[in-house]
Amino acid sequence: MTLVPRPSRDAPETDIFDRRESRVRSYSRSIPRQFTRAESVWLHDGSGGQYLDFLSGCSSLNYGHNHPVLKQALLDYIAADGIAHGLDLHTDAKADFLEAFEQLILAPRQLDYRAMFTGPTGTNAVEAAVKLARKITGRELVIAFTNGFHGMTLGALACTGNAGKRNGAGVPLSHVSHEPFDGYYGPDVDTAALLEQRLSDPSSGLDAPAAVLVETVQGEGGLNAASPEWLRAIAGIARKYGALLIVDDIQAGCGRTGSFFSFEGMGFTPDIVTLAKSLSGMGLPFALTLFRPELDVWEPGEHNGTFRGNNHAFVTAAAALRHFWADGSFQADIVRRGELLHSRLEQIAKEHSLSTRGRGMMRGIDVGSGDAASAITQSCFAQGLIIETSGAHDEIVKVLAPLTIDDVLLNTGLDILETAIGAELAPTLGVAA
Ligand SMILES: *Cc1c(COP(=O)(O)O)cnc(C)c1O
Repeated sequence: MTLVPRPSRDAPETDIFDRRESRVRSYSRSIPRQFTRAESVWLHDGSGGQYLDFLSGCSSLNYGHNHPVLKQALLDYIAADGIAHGLDLHTDAKADFLEAFEQLILAPRQLDYRAMFTGPTGTNAVEAAVKLARKITGRELVIAFTNGFHGMTLGALACTGNAGKRNGAGVPLSHVSHEPFDGYYGPDVDTAALLEQRLSDPSSGLDAPAAVLVETVQGEGGLNAASPEWLRAIAGIARKYGALLIVDDIQAGCGRTGSFFSFEGMGFTPDIVTLAKSLSGMGLPFALTLFRPELDVWEPGEHNGTFRGNNHAFVTAAAALRHFWADGSFQADIVRRGELLHSRLEQIAKEHSLSTRGRGMMRGIDVGSGDAASAITQSCFAQGLIIETSGAHDEIVKVLAPLTIDDVLLNTGLDILETAIGAELAPTLGVAA
């Protein structure tokens, strides 16, 4: 049986949420449904509605909802009274995850990283990364980039560009310089050269940095994909000026751009890498900070936390690595599907003189304004497609379909998106609904 998107028409009872849940909630405002269950690429509400999920928990559900192999591994583990919480104690589940990660991810890529289990959110992995870089170098400044997003705790928030997020801090966000990302001044300005010029000039006012923190594709900041050349240049600059290169792979990693790490094959190796979002494979909270073994200068407990290493997430993460990453077939599939996504988005963009962004299965269309993007995502939702926006003005409609989606459903969702864009941007040519 093939499901089709089928939105329910009745708004759910939201009284309890209005009454008791903080105003800070965000996604539930543009997606006002109460969901009951989910599987694969589908979210179901309680009124018979089924929605194709092109948001995937902001790329936390790269393998879709409740993947049967992952779910069974977790059910078996719980049924056998496997450890649910163990602080950072050695457990079978942790050993098994580390073995799988070493064997299936690190070794084939000739990467030699130590794994630090931080608190289970991405922002905690970023906090650990910048703390470690500051501790090692004895420097304070972190170079981050325009439109970068790194999380909401104060250290990571200081590295984040978005004013709306920064405004919530309540204290000055300091010790970070936001330098122009690749392409920030248009295609003709080499922003890596600008950074190098400032760092090499003793009178530029830019202090020697502890770290350079970068996303290879900016997930929240508009799906800007840095070129391999630019990233290589940034890696070279970091090394030359004694800073550690941190790649924040929380959204772009775990296969989203077509390889497990988003920087693979680009000719540089980050000193530190952060992972979270899809790492558990099933949407369970789980974050990792990886670094070269020589950088492992932590004192025991110096970056601590009650929930470091989520044993249920170790189980599903190890199952995901074994199921999807034991050979190259899944990766080849993502690359192929990313090309399909690319060509369809290009074609839609061309019809309306728009442009596309991104890489792999992390792509979107710049529709010119946040208002247009919001109208488009709302009309997609009315057709049973869940899709969100990204970018400085929320002007990018971003497709984050599960990496496991089949081509038919990918096309189904893109058809809905195409119609919505057509209706919003060329209303005179559209057929009245
Ligand atoms: C989501 C995200 C974070 C923060 O992760 P949380 O789990 O929300 O704290 C950090 N960096 C990037 C690139 C992200 O996409």
